[in-house]
Amino acid sequence: MKSDSKIYVAGHRGLVGSAIMRRLTSPSPHAGEGRGEGGYTNIVTRTHSELDLTDQRAVDEFFEKQKPEYVFLAAAKVGGINANNIYRADFIYQNLMMESNIIHASYKHGVKKLMFLGSSCIYPKHAPQPMKEEYLLTGLLEPTNEPYAIAKIAGIKMCDAYNRQYGTNFMSVMPTNLYGPGDNYDLQGSHVLPALIRKMHEAKMQNAKEVVVWGTGSPKREFLYSDDLADACVFLMKRCSAVDVGEFINIGVGKEITIREAAELIAEVVGFRGQLVFDTSKPDGTPRKLLDVSRLDALGWQAKTGFREGIAKSYADYLQAVASTA
Ligand code: GDP
Repeated sequence: MKSDSKIYVAGHRGLVGSAIMRRLTSPSPHAGEGRGEGGYTNIVTRTHSELDLTDQRAVDEFFEKQKPEYVFLAAAKVGGINANNIYRADFIYQNLMMESNIIHASYKHGVKKLMFLGSSCIYPKHAPQPMKEEYLLTGLLEPTNEPYAIAKIAGIKMCDAYNRQYGTNFMSVMPTNLYGPGDNYDLQGSHVLPALIRKMHEAKMQNAKEVVVWGTGSPKREFLYSDDLADACVFLMKRCSAVDVGEFINIGVGKEITIREAAELIAEVVGFRGQLVFDTSKPDGTPRKLLDVSRLDALGWQAKTGFREGIAKSYADYLQAVASTA
């Protein structure tokens, strides 16, 4: 991938896509280690209203006209445990359609390299921890996000099938739970960290005594800052091919914390001094979701942003988002 290569970032306004955009246009946190300075100048994007990615004909026409050389497939319908559990049909339909259309059009129009972004929820609910890439399809999935996970597994298998049948260079990467600037702060649809940032901030402002945390607080999660993920994606896109990464590769930090610990740290960063109350009528979801990142580590990439630093940056982003809508 050269600085003037034509790069299509699908989903450029989302948490992942916007981080990839920042990384393509500005230096890597690893810049001092020769990881590249950004400066990609030929990036093409389309908003949802300009291009409906579930529309096969529209996607095909877009690829025919634009002829991108590199594609980051970061467009997806995403959400937290509640949204995944309720909008089950939307999650499987929209994700299958978007990835099918983009992967097929990339093959048809000669894309040099494509990167498909998946999720750690593809692994079996009771997979041994940390989860190695080879545990895919060795057990039953977590029911709350099964439709989303099935769509993401289909994306991995599509990339692999196109590589084997047509000799394409389509790489799949599986990030762990993500957070960062531009996150979804809607309390019903969001993931745990943006939800807790918002709840704690609002509780602080209203001098409330309690914040409700869903579930028991005992599930463990691994959290990766979105700019770190973007750095890993650009690193892999530049340096690696599908043959180097195998069927897909995990991207994570290799460490996990409990939801209770995450909530306590957010309270500290936000400055909320009241009580945490655990609402056990809400689901815990999968008990653990820790990725084994040794394959990525061996390729020479590690995450840089510590959890406290990432939460502080995310809180600053939340404050900005609140200020801009006030
Ligand atoms: P998951 O990783 O797919 O389960 O997605 P989430 O990020 O939505 O949830 C992670 C864990 O955090 C689950 O055990 C949730 O029950 C718990 N959790 C605690 N409070 C909240 C909250 O306010 N919102 C969300 N989405 N999850 C919460």
